[in-house]
Amino acid sequence: MSPRVFETRRARAFGDVPETQWNDWRWQLSHRLNTAEEIERIFPLTESERTALNASDLFRVDITPYFISLIRPDDPADPIRRQVIPTAAELVPFTAMMEDSLAEDRHSPVPGLVHRYPDRVLMLVTTQCASYCRYCTRSRIVGDASAQFSRAEFDAMFDYIERTPQIRDVLLSGGDPLTLAPGLLEELIARLRAIEHVEIIRIGSRVPVFLPMRVDDALCSMLARYHPLWLNIHVNHPNEITPELAAAADRLSRAGIPLGNQSVLLAGVNDCVHIQRRLVQDLLRIRVRPYYLYQCDLVEGAGHFRTPVAKGIEIIEGLRGHTSGFAVPQYVVDAPGGGGKIPLGPNYLLSMSDHRTALRNYEGYISVYEEPVDYTAHDPATCPDCCDKRTEAGQSGVSGLLEGEQLAIEPAGWEAIHARGGSKHRLNRDEEKWQPRGIGAEKSSAAGETPVHSVLRKKTSGKP
Ligand SMILES: *Cc1c(COP(=O)(O)O)cnc(C)c1O
Ligand code: SF4
Repeated sequence: MSPRVFETRRARAFGDVPETQWNDWRWQLSHRLNTAEEIERIFPLTESERTALNASDLFRVDITPYFISLIRPDDPADPIRRQVIPTAAELVPFTAMMEDSLAEDRHSPVPGLVHRYPDRVLMLVTTQCASYCRYCTRSRIVGDASAQFSRAEFDAMFDYIERTPQIRDVLLSGGDPLTLAPGLLEELIARLRAIEHVEIIRIGSRVPVFLPMRVDDALCSMLARYHPLWLNIHVNHPNEITPELAAAADRLSRAGIPLGNQSVLLAGVNDCVHIQRRLVQDLLRIRVRPYYLYQCDLVEGAGHFRTPVAKGIEIIEGLRGHTSGFAVPQYVVDAPGGGGKIPLGPNYLLSMSDHRTALRNYEGYISVYEEPVDYTAHDPATCPDCCDKRTEAGQSGVSGLLEGEQLAIEPAGWEAIHARGGSKHRLNRDEEKWQPRGIGAEKSSAAGETPVHSVLRKKTSGKP
């Protein structure tokens, strides 16, 4: 069986557009479609789509001629159509729906900069995209031209990054960074590169998918001046992989930019093991490595795109082992309220004894791994990396428990609940009795000794 051929398409309505215009990203942007009337020149709309397109307060609609051409005109359930053409379902509220479901704005020390994880930040650099996805997690700001970030806000973001040396990774997002004016984009990247502790720069962009002609040689050689630079694209369905996207990905790869893909699991678009398998295999063919598969967020307008979490587990079950390990993304739920990304997958661990671990593989073959009974534990005292570890505020968590930093992580208010309204009495007056020997002790630097009576249990309910 020879590999599938990627198709190039152009809607009949654009048949007369000369190649030079079609391949000009400025032409594509200025000819985006956004009304029921314009879209109906390409294909007939359903009643539900027309209702949505005429609704007030609708999340912005805009579709490049290139991308709308990938929609099969006679299929209302087309997976690309569902991503960019609204339906009435989008207007329906649902339980747990939120405007900012990841609490990004709550984790922003300055507007547009989300510092959620210890060593990296998400920098929102624009609210504009080449086309708009109906399920967008950031629909609270995306699409709104009047919500653009100001010079003063950019200065505040850079100032924060400069004075926060724990940030070693800056992720440019938005909106879509590659829709910025080329000069401004380069200025932002150059300013980041000038900050010594910023080791890597990442860009998240759907431009290669919506507007592959924008990824021209000039853009690629500009980006290549600021390595190490990584880029994640966003493809949800194999129909989005065209010769144009393949060529754009090739230009980026040749500029030395490693490419990843982030997809969203979407009902009616890609909630199928077989579609996902084809998607990830086709991504490898254009040298893009699947990175994340996101559970759809609890965001306004996205209710009808959500699947049960079980669907994500089922998809990973159908990928891991069944195809190249390289092709398997990490399935994550970005926890509502700002809990961050939580990886989920099938269970492969069946049981354990003191020195055997029973495991099953993707075929259901069960075997046991015989563990060493004479393992010499790693000795942090003689390990240069342990002695010298770069620990950032908020970097402990469960890993910190395993390193003996503290004995427990308590939910907020736990201690008060368990006081049961009692008082200090003869049996609970002495706090020392609950201090676990050797846990949470600070190392005396030179000898690596651990004094036992030091700070033993740290509070974790407050801010780091
Ligand atoms: C996803 C995300 C990142 C990057 O996470 P990785 O797991 O390192 O890709 C950083 N900050 C925020 C706020 C994010 O949502
Ligand atoms: S490209 Fe990204 S930011 Fe823009 S609308 Fe789509 S999901 Fe939202």
